[in-house]
Amino acid sequence: MMREHAADVVVVGAGPGGLAAAVTAAECGRSVLLVDDNAAPGGQIWRASFDHGMAAPARAWHARAERAGVQRLSGTRVVDARDARTLIAAGDAGMTILRANRIVLALGASERFLPFPGWTLPGVFGVGGLQALAKGGFDLRGAVIAIAGSGPLLLAVAASLRARGAQIAGIFEQAPLARVRRFGIGLAARPRKLAQGLALLGALRGIERHHDAWPLHAEPAFSGLRVTFRTPRGNRVLPVTALAVGFGLVPNTDVAALLGCRMKDERVVVDELTCTTIDGVHAVGETIGIAGVDAAIADGITAGLVCAGRDDEARRAARRRFRERRFAAALERTYALRDELRTLATGDTLVCRCEDVPLARLADCMDARDAKLRTRCGMGPCQGRVCGPALGFLRGWPRDDVRPPLIPLTFSAWLELGTTGPRGRTDEMARSDAGDHDADRGGRTHRS
Ligand SMILES: Cc1cc2nc3c(=O)[nH]c(=O)nc-3n(C[C@H](O)[C@H](O)[C@H](O)COP(=O)(O)OP(=O)(O)OC[C@H]3O[C@@H](n4cnc5c(N)ncnc54)[C@H](O)[C@@H]3O)c2cc1C
Repeated sequence: MMREHAADVVVVGAGPGGLAAAVTAAECGRSVLLVDDNAAPGGQIWRASFDHGMAAPARAWHARAERAGVQRLSGTRVVDARDARTLIAAGDAGMTILRANRIVLALGASERFLPFPGWTLPGVFGVGGLQALAKGGFDLRGAVIAIAGSGPLLLAVAASLRARGAQIAGIFEQAPLARVRRFGIGLAARPRKLAQGLALLGALRGIERHHDAWPLHAEPAFSGLRVTFRTPRGNRVLPVTALAVGFGLVPNTDVAALLGCRMKDERVVVDELTCTTIDGVHAVGETIGIAGVDAAIADGITAGLVCAGRDDEARRAARRRFRERRFAAALERTYALRDELRTLATGDTLVCRCEDVPLARLADCMDARDAKLRTRCGMGPCQGRVCGPALGFLRGWPRDDVRPPLIPLTFSAWLELGTTGPRGRTDEMARSDAGDHDADRGGRTHRS
């Protein structure tokens, strides 16, 4: 028998966007349930660390959430969405049905990996992934690390790895120097962001930074790895312990896709008040486009106010999110991925590392679905989370439809999910759907 939780508002994701939405709605008197798959709130930027615990901003939001009576369900992941009022979550304690009048999706983003020869070797990490490992206690003291890819995250991660005792061998940014400089000059109009940027550059003093540069290939070596980078002054070969690489972020949209929300350019489409195209479902933060922590908070506050029925206040709050989103558009233009990166992978470079599918096997495939059917590309444990965004860039293939459950489940959890009625529904949900013409507008056609 599945457990049930009901609240006026269910917020999925306890990063800055989700915390802001949950606290705002709860402070306006709504009952709120905040669900996240991590043990502690904070999302990516405020991820708790083994030595300092919760990050200071997460602690402050968490304290407000507790005072406002926000219920938390941690270590729990939403894996299915039955209709715009009902989600199914999996956690250590089993499966849970979540019922709400409104749902706020604050799912964050994932890193984009681009395949190049050697990218699957031990010692090659995602930039954010390595940072998360370090926060979790992975000892980097004395490690020599090269950082490559694109976006300000490279700088933030370099600073945090250095603070944990790693030696940063170099930062290789694919964006052209002129574009990054222009973006930097534009920060003069945003004093707070300028101060943050300058503080970051201060923390990176003495580290070589290259622009118009990217990894060409990596191979095993005595030090761990030998990585060859393309730079404007010719190829550069570095012996390193580890390579951290990431070509920007891709919005997490899986739960929104299950609900049938409209997507465009890999992100969930919302209106000025964060409403998606599905009535009662909001999306905030990186789920609606990569824009950083300030935008996520501004989105969350707007969504929380709308969930509490305070549309006039929400409209005023939305002005801040427009400002932050304009900044995000400049960021996107600056760090747009260059065409040369499409040619990094050779025919025998693995694209889907779960199912060992090399690029050459995808030559005749028309789209992600075709590749799935013919090669099993995207059908392994990560369910296309890694190869999907890579092929989005390499081939311009939109992600294939998502299928519930969104992550592999244990057999007992799967049985619990499967015994909840026809197509996984409880009888009660089926009855409520029968009387609710608005329900199940998800347009899902695939169920595993
Ligand atoms: C790996 C990584 C590292 C980053 N590091 C930095 C950094 O060092 N500095 C910086 O300025 N920015 C960093 N960013 C960018 C930063 O994440 C954003 O600026 C900001 O945190 C966005 O907030 P958010 O609330 O939109 O998403 P997030 O902070 O990503 O929060 C989303 C939360 O939702 C949870 N979630 C997702 N799907 C589900 C589900 N189905 N069920 C339950 N929970 C779910 C996630 O686990 C996460 O806790 C990083 C991003 C990534 C992807």
